[in-house]
Amino acid sequence: MADIVKIVDGKAQVGDNPIVLFIEGDGIGPDIWRASQAVFDAAVDKAYDGKRKIEWKEILVGEKALNQTGEYMPQESLDLIKEYSLAIKGPLTTPVGGGIRSLNVALRQIFDLYACVRPVKWYKGVPSPMKRPDLFDIVLFRENTEDVYSGFDYQAGSPEALKIIEAVNSLNPDKQLPHINTTGIGIKPISAEGSKRLIKSSIEYAIKYGRKKVHLIHKGNIMKYTEGSFTDWGYELAKAEYADRVITEEEVWDGADPGDKIILGNRIADNTFQQLLLRPDEYDVLATTNLNGDYLSDAAAAQVGGLGIAPGANIGDNQAIFEATHGTAPKYAGQDKVNPGSVILSGVMMLEFMGWSEAAKLIEEGLERAIEKKTVTYDFERQMEGATLLKCSEFGQAIVENMPVKV
Ligand code: NAP
Repeated sequence: MADIVKIVDGKAQVGDNPIVLFIEGDGIGPDIWRASQAVFDAAVDKAYDGKRKIEWKEILVGEKALNQTGEYMPQESLDLIKEYSLAIKGPLTTPVGGGIRSLNVALRQIFDLYACVRPVKWYKGVPSPMKRPDLFDIVLFRENTEDVYSGFDYQAGSPEALKIIEAVNSLNPDKQLPHINTTGIGIKPISAEGSKRLIKSSIEYAIKYGRKKVHLIHKGNIMKYTEGSFTDWGYELAKAEYADRVITEEEVWDGADPGDKIILGNRIADNTFQQLLLRPDEYDVLATTNLNGDYLSDAAAAQVGGLGIAPGANIGDNQAIFEATHGTAPKYAGQDKVNPGSVILSGVMMLEFMGWSEAAKLIEEGLERAIEKKTVTYDFERQMEGATLLKCSEFGQAIVENMPVKV
């Protein structure tokens, strides 16, 4: 009998035969999904000798949904996510025009998946532009529901933009927006509630996985009451709820021993970009606002080999969706060519979230060994001396063949 997964306060309750939803994705999605599902099933079977098994259930979102139902995001699919809680997805085309800004952003907002979690680390053998990519091992928590993504975005000259400009100009006669009819307006809401729950999940993660530091990344030097307050609320939370687990960077600046406490610091976002390039090993868990997180996660992924193998998760209190971070790369669709690593490593995150870390470990090791042997897809092959070019599905098989006998 298959079990329904429950997620309570962001934590999964999973039986031995959980139903997990999948969205194949558009473009390269079907190729990648086929390769990935085979890897997940092999790992679970091997890790638990057939005693555990995922029951995969497809839900339609994106172009496949449009073709079959006339809608990009049918209500039935949303109902299934609500009921079954846990899903993994390939990339989705962003519809051009129409009412939907982005299917990905919509899913995050509908299910209030407020924590976008992106681990970025280097796997041995992956081509990287860095001299020491091995020093890189961070987990980025990006707030997913607020900031300039919350959809208050008004075209220049629209009634909404004009109204807001009028209101702003009425606040202070000495400080006016000068171009009333030709100024577009976007609003950047950042709340204490939104900031604290995201920062809380980053601290909880650091505690659970034995991470040593959490840095709050912000642009509070300029945006004091949004980005600056994000940081202040983070410290407030740490003091109120984690006084016995967290110590601030300021408290250990004189060289004091933090003991087994997690060090909480903060960095300005622009500085963080150069710090991650120059001193990556000083960073561990990062928590940040939506737009900073968007930029930082792609830049960080590039340092360790690019988006082709960058995994991600969107986690809320009651639902979680794990996803490829790259797009649909339409020019490669149906060619069984691209790297399935991003969905496969998102599956590794999902298995860990489910508490099935033995299966997760098998996949990670299988992937690393396959890359070390230089049996890789085109994106890595073109950057490696003497590599063997594999198709998408063959790379999946190589991961399975390279899984260790025992973990
Ligand atoms: P993209 O699909 O990520 O592709 C850009 C390039 O990245 C590809 O041409 C390819 O590079 C490389 N690439 C992407 N996935 C790869 C993989 N699995 N293996 C190896 N290389 C990979 O970005 P895009 O062309 O800007 O976006 C296409 C569509 O995807 C748009 O509709 C966009 O909105 C959507 N999108 C969806 C998501 C999502 O669902 N999470 C995210 C981003 C974009 P080379 O050409 O160098 O081989």
